[in-house]
Amino acid sequence: MESAYVLAIKELEEIRNENKRILEYRKMETGSVAPRIPEIDVELMKSGAELLKTVLDKSRNFDDVKKNIEKLQAEKIRLLKDNGFPEDYLEDIHSCPKCKDTGFVLGHRCDCLKSLVAKYIGANANLSEYMKNQTFENFDFSLFEETTVDGKTVPVLKIMQKAVQICMDFAEGFDREKSNMILSGNAGTGKTFLSSCIANRALERGKTVYYTSAYKLFETLEALKFGKETGEDAEEIAKYIYEVDLLIIDDLGTEFTTQFTSAVFFDIINSRLVSGKSTLISTNLDLEGINNLYSQRITSRIMGDYKAITLYGNDIRPKVKNK
Ligand SMILES: [Zn+2]
Repeated sequence: MESAYVLAIKELEEIRNENKRILEYRKMETGSVAPRIPEIDVELMKSGAELLKTVLDKSRNFDDVKKNIEKLQAEKIRLLKDNGFPEDYLEDIHSCPKCKDTGFVLGHRCDCLKSLVAKYIGANANLSEYMKNQTFENFDFSLFEETTVDGKTVPVLKIMQKAVQICMDFAEGFDREKSNMILSGNAGTGKTFLSSCIANRALERGKTVYYTSAYKLFETLEALKFGKETGEDAEEIAKYIYEVDLLIIDDLGTEFTTQFTSAVFFDIINSRLVSGKSTLISTNLDLEGINNLYSQRITSRIMGDYKAITLYGNDIRPKVKNK
């Protein structure tokens, strides 16, 4: 399989070729109605060369040649209009005016190239088929009921209704509000389901989303760092996690923590905060657990800049499976 970047560059090439084909067709089309137009094009090409000569050897007057070019261009536009074509009908066609379909602006990747790479990396945000169906519309509140924890009654349904509302608001406005969220709770309390709901809503809104488990994320980054065998897209993923509108790190706490993962986790969290990109973390751990696993500086970032939601209740997964 080819890397997402190679595929994106190939798609840009196809876009350029397609636009060239359209332009060639337009030349034929206009030339058959107004045969003077292709003649003008030949004269324009000659005059362009002459203009260059006047700069070099001053054999002809620069202004004369320039005037002639302007006259030819005006004639061409008039012929196009007279025959019912738009006046820019024969100009180069670009699907992305910013980079003229080259993929780069001043040496940096253009947004169109970034979104093509994203398309090939995530192929829809890296969500599994199963997760694509987990939406707010499909949310089943009947799975949640009151339960007792340490002898106290916990209104699980109420907590879930509130949590869903907060998650919906987050999905609708994380980019404008530059907000972040951490969902914590025991296994099976609905964290991954809610993360999928948020991802799907954000995708519907046209945002870019990348979903990954903490385990997979750090495994990829570590392999890349230490030159181990990685998938074709590891390098692109390593860049993309800094650029994507919403990064979802699922199941934090299930990964092996090393000095490297700790440093890279802080860098991801911190860089995304600085650049105003939103992150959603789900975890079985509470803040103390995260603190034990990672450094104080990570917990303080999360405490300071993340909305925290804690989900309660018994494992709903057996119920989901029985449905
Ligand atoms: Zn572009």
